[in-house]
Amino acid sequence: MKKLPISKLNDFFSAVSKAGNKVYLPVDIGEGKGADYKLWSEGVELSKALNTNRSAKDFFFPQTENLFELKMDGKNIDVIDTRTEAEDFVVFGVRACDVRSFEVLDRVFLANPVDTYYKTRREHGVIISLACTKPAHTCFCHQMDVDATNAGGDIQTWMTDDALYLEALTEKGKALLSKIDFAEDADEKAVEAQKAETKKALEALPLTMPSAEIFEEKELLKLFNSPKWASLSESCLACGTCTFVCPTCQCYDIRDFDTGHGVKRFRCWDSCMYSDFTKMAHGNPRVSQLERFRQRFMHKLVYYPANNNGLKGCVGCGRCLAKCPISMNIVKVAKSLAEEATK
Ligand code: SF4
Ligand code: SF4
Repeated sequence: MKKLPISKLNDFFSAVSKAGNKVYLPVDIGEGKGADYKLWSEGVELSKALNTNRSAKDFFFPQTENLFELKMDGKNIDVIDTRTEAEDFVVFGVRACDVRSFEVLDRVFLANPVDTYYKTRREHGVIISLACTKPAHTCFCHQMDVDATNAGGDIQTWMTDDALYLEALTEKGKALLSKIDFAEDADEKAVEAQKAETKKALEALPLTMPSAEIFEEKELLKLFNSPKWASLSESCLACGTCTFVCPTCQCYDIRDFDTGHGVKRFRCWDSCMYSDFTKMAHGNPRVSQLERFRQRFMHKLVYYPANNNGLKGCVGCGRCLAKCPISMNIVKVAKSLAEEATK
């Protein structure tokens, strides 16, 4: 384990940047508006907020991207790859829940057929995580098998009042940390004390998820046909906010735009909560908001774990709890289904 004094945090970002990386870190975006990732440059300060409004997913799976262009000349069509060589970048301050979200996304985008857009960014990006010390009342990561005190990533870090402790976990992380010549060797005493305090805080959090057994594949039909979906989905506004702030949501749409002398193909995030999601030539297989709402929660709680050796499709970040305009959230849904299933 390495350590550097807090007074050298800026020197750390500077050294990582000089090592050829763009460095992104959580930065306050305005009074009462929380934090989001911004590019570091001299004078940019790390936020003290627990987490960012938008997750670090954006760096690897951006909200919109131009996939390629087609140029037409008579009957000739040229396919133009619009990608430029991805730059190396570092995302600092990623919390354990969001680090886990990459495991969820990797199983979608890196499975065959591999999404080369996502893969290139994963290869060029280094994730430096930051352990939590003061989880919020909306957090329930510990109920979703995430350890907020060992956040993971390429380098995991812990911040105390006077120092940043760093531990490289991957080859990429080790290569980067070896370039920080002012980081000193350190023992784990302060980190272990911090972990013990945080674990106590996590255990005292108010949100509890029902047992995962309720959501096993063998219960699928019972859950799918639960009468609870009607009352749960009744007030959903179909705004899609829960899907847009979620670090594990990965649905997208692809659209072509006629430029007058060719076509530009874009990919942009979509939401299973929208009425035109999955719309096909024959119409839409999910015609009601109940069906769309059920799809989102069944995917996170049942379908994804069933297809991925039990890996949960929700990482307990709490963003959907904090942002939903009708105060609906995955914990409420899970509890309601569990109550009905165990009647
Ligand atoms: S944020 Fe809330 S209201 Fe909006 S789509 Fe999600 S569950 Fe429905
Ligand atoms: S479903 Fe909600 S709590 Fe779970 S990962 Fe998505 S935004 Fe976070």
